[in-house]
Amino acid sequence: MIKYHLKCECGVEFESWFSNSKEYDRLEKKNLLSCKCGQSRNISKQIMSPQIASKKELNSNSSKQEIFLKTVNKKLRELRNYIEKNSEYVGENFVSEARSIHYDKKNVRSIYGKATPEQTEELLEEGIAVDTVPWVNKIDN
Ligand SMILES: [Zn+2]
Repeated sequence: MIKYHLKCECGVEFESWFSNSKEYDRLEKKNLLSCKCGQSRNISKQIMSPQIASKKELNSNSSKQEIFLKTVNKKLRELRNYIEKNSEYVGENFVSEARSIHYDKKNVRSIYGKATPEQTEELLEEGIAVDTVPWVNKIDN
């Protein structure tokens, strides 16, 4: 959104909002800018005052975002720790191990490892409970 200070031929000054400068240009070309005097032919743009958030506000927003991301990362690390403590890492064998647990019911345990999205999809279609979790680094980047 952009706010323009407009001045009509009649002397009236007013402010109007436009979604962008192109929209203003478009309305001006078609004489669609209107003043309360009814003379909408000669309205000119005075001072452009784009709405810019102050530097202070931008800073506080970015720090809020940083805090949020840190919190998310912390939760994901906790999740990773939990998985590592409570299940067995099978790496690349994940898909075959998951199938053998599901079909053979042997050595039933929680496992985690690597699978492509396609493999995960296949396992889910076979009715095997698989969850995908974002795997974060243990140390902050
Ligand atoms: Zn006017």
